[in-house]
Amino acid sequence: DAAQREGVFWRRAATNLDQIERQVSLMGELDDALAAGQIEVFYQPKLSLAQGRPTSVEALVRWRHPERGFVGPDLFIPLAEQTDRIAPLTLYVVERVLTDIANWRGLGPDLAAAINISAKLLSAPAFNAAIERLLERSAIPTSLLIFEVTESAAMSDPDKAVAALRRYRELGIAVSMDDYGTGQSTLTYLRQLPLNELKIDRSFVQFAHQNRNDAVLVRSTIDLAHDLGLKVVAEGVEDAECLEFLRAAGCDMIQGYHISRPLPLDALLTFIATPVAA
Ligand code: C2E
Ligand code: CA
Ligand code: CA
Ligand code: CA
Repeated sequence: DAAQREGVFWRRAATNLDQIERQVSLMGELDDALAAGQIEVFYQPKLSLAQGRPTSVEALVRWRHPERGFVGPDLFIPLAEQTDRIAPLTLYVVERVLTDIANWRGLGPDLAAAINISAKLLSAPAFNAAIERLLERSAIPTSLLIFEVTESAAMSDPDKAVAALRRYRELGIAVSMDDYGTGQSTLTYLRQLPLNELKIDRSFVQFAHQNRNDAVLVRSTIDLAHDLGLKVVAEGVEDAECLEFLRAAGCDMIQGYHISRPLPLDALLTFIATPVAA
């Protein structure tokens, strides 16, 4: 449960006192970082294999810390989740994405944007209300948004989360289950959540073209998802052999360094203007 996870979290953190001090001070700084514009949103294109072009991008946060340099989301997102900074951070990302979509709309066929939503937030009424207010104020159609539900923190109240996701679906937002295969309760989520899409975690995808067991797991996950009426995205595609394996396996979309690294907005605009071959 949540309390136990928190215990594990802090025990691990405490193995290194320096680390814990650094983390505590980082969290104190995160609020200021938002205000100071140190939190940036990068975008990684996702390629549709059927259409042979990117049809969406994933928003990924980066923290440009004035003294520590670049701090990656793998370090500060779990901390933000533990310390209740994840709601303001996510709202900041959503606002940024709505602004940025306006910048790339009209440059070519519409590109949807996927936003990572910590599963924990879905059962927070204040967060969901704030999201709805942002969407109401924005001229961007909700059909251009995908919410990727991430599981790094436990879902505190699954019933509330399901209700929130149903509401997002009603509003026109697509729902994707992130990091499929890595969580403890992925099959439960698959059964309960109103999903449009499933993202197979990079740890399964990366070597699927070389490793027989990974290949079997990826292929059967794609078939399972399709049987459930879901689209499948494979993340962490780093080379052409992997892409061809996924194409043969019937995967719908791919994301990874082979297509593009996560890009700042200006580089994304250039990327959009340059056709990719797949
Ligand atoms: P994720 O949602 O699984 O995102 C994919 C991660 O894999 C990103 O790491 C991306 O840069 C990386 N990646 C993409 N393609 C490749 C590849 O071909 N090879 C390899 N080795 N890596 C690849 P990143 O940007 O460091 O983000 C890490 C995690 O932080 C994300 O994992 C996501 O769970 C979380 N995160 C990022 N932004 C947000 C956010 O705004 N909100 C929340 N709640 N979580 C976020
Ligand atoms: Ca994601
Ligand atoms: Ca992942
Ligand atoms: Ca993730």
